[in-house]
Amino acid sequence: TTKQLVMSEKLAAIGEITAGIAHEINNPIAVIQGNLEVLREIVGDRANDAQTEFRLIDEQTERMRQIVTKLLLFARPDEFSGGEEASGTGEVVRDCLPLVRHLIRKQQISVREDLHAEGLAAISRTALQQVLVNLIVNAIHAMPDGGELLLASEDHVKDGRNGVALTVSDTGVGMEPEVASRIFDPFFTTKKGTGTGLGLSISHMLVTEAEGTIKVKSTPGEGTAFTIWLPEFSGRAH
Ligand code: ADP
Repeated sequence: TTKQLVMSEKLAAIGEITAGIAHEINNPIAVIQGNLEVLREIVGDRANDAQTEFRLIDEQTERMRQIVTKLLLFARPDEFSGGEEASGTGEVVRDCLPLVRHLIRKQQISVREDLHAEGLAAISRTALQQVLVNLIVNAIHAMPDGGELLLASEDHVKDGRNGVALTVSDTGVGMEPEVASRIFDPFFTTKKGTGTGLGLSISHMLVTEAEGTIKVKSTPGEGTAFTIWLPEFSGRAH
């Protein structure tokens, strides 16, 4: 209908504006972060008196940087999904772990890998890594008192199509059905003050663009499992 058309044009315009603003904000943030380091060196020992202030500025600018990065990714996913369109999933899963190792250590989380997929997934490594890191970070957030993070993969035929199924599951707090039904909505978050609510909507978008699916199963108090299915890459790598 005309109404829907107007709506989608509006959304596209908002996406463009968001991407533009996010780009512009990136530079001043980089300048603040860079100068903070310089400032710390200039004040030298006296910086100790202002440790809390330095740390707060540091943390909060870093938070801004992350929000801006996610907004950009949300508005212009194509910019991030470039590159090779075939991913060895086990390799990508293993590449994600160093990025979250500090969180895993801090929270006494054990990691179990059950990686058996042999086929390549038809998605760029950057996109797949982005999706997996989002899921893994959420899983870690859901286990403040420790638990187990399971990363699994297997070749899986779906509707007659060869593909790869990936699972990221945790033994964390889980979700009520009302929450689970909204997690892929942009800006939906239960992490007041720290969440952006963009991680899962970005992940959903990247997986859908690759013609895959992403599903969630969650039980409050027991944990959550995300399963991604991606079609197999069958062409030649370029
Ligand atoms: P954010 O993490 O910034 O809130 P996301 O889009 O990644 O944004 O997630 C949206 C919401 O989904 C989270 O705020 C949380 O309530 C819920 N969620 C996501 N993953 C999990 C999980 N593994 N366990 C419990 N809740 C989760």
